[in-house]
Amino acid sequence: MRPDLFEAPDYYNLDDLFSQEHLLVRDAARQWVKRDVSPIIEEYAQKAEFPKQIISGLAEIGAFGPYIPEEYGGAGLDQISYGLIMQEIERGDSGVRSTASVQSSLVMYPIYTYGTEAQRKKYLPKLAAGEWMGSFGLTEPNHGSNPSGMETKFKDMGDHYLLNGAKLWISNSPFCDIAVVWAKNEEGRIHGLIVERGMEGFTTPETHNKWSLRASATGELIFDNVKVPKENLLPNKTGLGAPLGCLDSARFGIAWGAIGAAMDCYDTALRYAKERIQFGKPIAATQLQQKKLAEMITEITKAQLLAFRLGQLKNEGRATTAQISMAKRNNVEMAIKIAREARQVLGGMGITGEYSIMRHMMNLESVITYEGTHDIHLLITGADITGMPAFK
Ligand SMILES: Cc1cc2nc3c(=O)[nH]c(=O)nc-3n(C[C@H](O)[C@H](O)[C@H](O)COP(=O)(O)OP(=O)(O)OC[C@H]3O[C@@H](n4cnc5c(N)ncnc54)[C@H](O)[C@@H]3O)c2cc1C
Repeated sequence: MRPDLFEAPDYYNLDDLFSQEHLLVRDAARQWVKRDVSPIIEEYAQKAEFPKQIISGLAEIGAFGPYIPEEYGGAGLDQISYGLIMQEIERGDSGVRSTASVQSSLVMYPIYTYGTEAQRKKYLPKLAAGEWMGSFGLTEPNHGSNPSGMETKFKDMGDHYLLNGAKLWISNSPFCDIAVVWAKNEEGRIHGLIVERGMEGFTTPETHNKWSLRASATGELIFDNVKVPKENLLPNKTGLGAPLGCLDSARFGIAWGAIGAAMDCYDTALRYAKERIQFGKPIAATQLQQKKLAEMITEITKAQLLAFRLGQLKNEGRATTAQISMAKRNNVEMAIKIAREARQVLGGMGITGEYSIMRHMMNLESVITYEGTHDIHLLITGADITGMPAFK
């Protein structure tokens, strides 16, 4: 891969709206991605392996639990800082951002929000430091968009719970130390349980042959009569709203992250278009390529403003699930369209691993599907504005 020459676009002077802390946090993440992610990520994506050596760096830039209070090892930052960190990481690679999102919003968030004080103290500092890695098990082979139908279940055995079932498409599963698993009790009520690697009957086979998110490890979580200690149940929220609350937080991060991928594609295409000479002039001087580039920066700017306002609402505790859905859906679609257009600006070079665009494009095919598909987010907006859910 070529040297990382990335220069972030800021067409509407958005930097003026960020605090000094936001800019410091963002720039530290930006520099880290340039130094530690860009030089190696193409090779890891090609060999379909998660680069474990970057875990400590992710912890150092505050990517694990940015908004978790410092007393539990988190960075104690606000939601806009969290968004900016996700933007910068996904500028490098959506798979790396996925690892950070899962750790922060799908593992640390439920332990912090729904867990006991003992659970917070036991798990959060180690997760924040990257000493332990977590995964989040909601999706099942027969239940993706409709997780309420989940079949994974647990039984009260007196001194422990007995967990049975299987989860599919789980980010970080092959190397996770713990998994936050959503399962039904004997009454059919959904609860979260913390399952630890090493518990008998718990296995995490890897899913191979992915064309997308190749630098992120994905796999299954299989529970075959796993004895889970009673103290590993998350007691403070039950029902589908518990995992959906985690997804709100993760989707918020994706709305920002997708901007990073789009920025990288735009910046690469702009630089290439200025340098590539055809018919005696740079292709950037042709109207057709200018149309592509002008539309890209317009869409990025709109997405930045959407994410920024959502960040303000989230900081005030006012961001609704439907508002988060809208931003996730819009910004990921924006990024995937920009990746496709930017790929064409590079002509044949666009399909090679010399440039990041094709990798972003493939990655975004997962991002547009996970954490609620593009269709499901549209249905969430539809239900919100009409009051008539159209899921069934
Ligand atoms: C790389 C990757 C990593 C992932 N990581 C995790 C993870 O860490 N943890 C986790 O729990 N899950 C994870 N997922 C799972 C992801 O969240 C699901 O793939 C997603 O929710 C969609 O579920 P599904 O794949 O079963 O598709 P389905 O739900 O079967 O959907 C198939 C199609 O039908 C459409 N559809 C479904 N219902 C309706 C409806 N009512 N009306 C109209 N259209 C509908 C969908 O939009 C989609 O286009 C991951 C997925 C991928 C690809």
